[in-house]
Amino acid sequence: MVKVKYVERPGLSNRERIFFLDFIKGMKITIKNFFRKTITTSYPFEKLTPPKRFRGTHAHRVKNGNEPPSFKVIEKFMDIKDGESRCVACYMCQQACPVPELFKIEAVQTPEGKKRVTRFDMNLLNCMYCGLCTEACPVDCLIMTDIYETAAYHRASCVTHMEDMTQRAIDFDRRRYNEPDRIWIDDEQRSKLWGQIKWS
Ligand code: SF4
Ligand code: SF4
Repeated sequence: MVKVKYVERPGLSNRERIFFLDFIKGMKITIKNFFRKTITTSYPFEKLTPPKRFRGTHAHRVKNGNEPPSFKVIEKFMDIKDGESRCVACYMCQQACPVPELFKIEAVQTPEGKKRVTRFDMNLLNCMYCGLCTEACPVDCLIMTDIYETAAYHRASCVTHMEDMTQRAIDFDRRRYNEPDRIWIDDEQRSKLWGQIKWS
């Protein structure tokens, strides 16, 4: 049986009882914060744009001429047309993921002897948005975007497919590809939200 230990609540002194000292102390903090600048936003009416490096919903970059040199090496073994996902089905993302079961990746060999990715599904209900999969991708295909509104009415809607992911990456890159790759959008926005940081 679990033993419960009771600790006696400290009583108020006569001075505290007469002058409502605790009440005044509490009100002092309330009034001080009442006049401070608000740092919260009234979501969903007000939405912040997360920084570019935010770990939001996953996307697949397409073959568009901006591929890293590693892709050029593998490209000749792949059947990937312009505008299609640049995934080479290497499974590195799945290997790096702490929950590998959430990936369903399939590829086939074409009659020309090339490899073609036929399926790339991710069950984002099991994802913890750690970003390890994106770090592992050797061709800069799998990325995370600034999309954070992922609530759905059905579990099935939380499985994202390759077609959705390529569209998401096209949209993300159109909006943010040329933005500097930094954690905050800019110092002005950061100081507006949280004030000036005093580095020691
Ligand atoms: S973000 Fe993390 S948990 Fe989610 S798929 Fe990538 S590696 Fe797995
Ligand atoms: S690591 Fe990149 S290229 Fe390899 S399977 Fe995953 S998304 Fe495709």
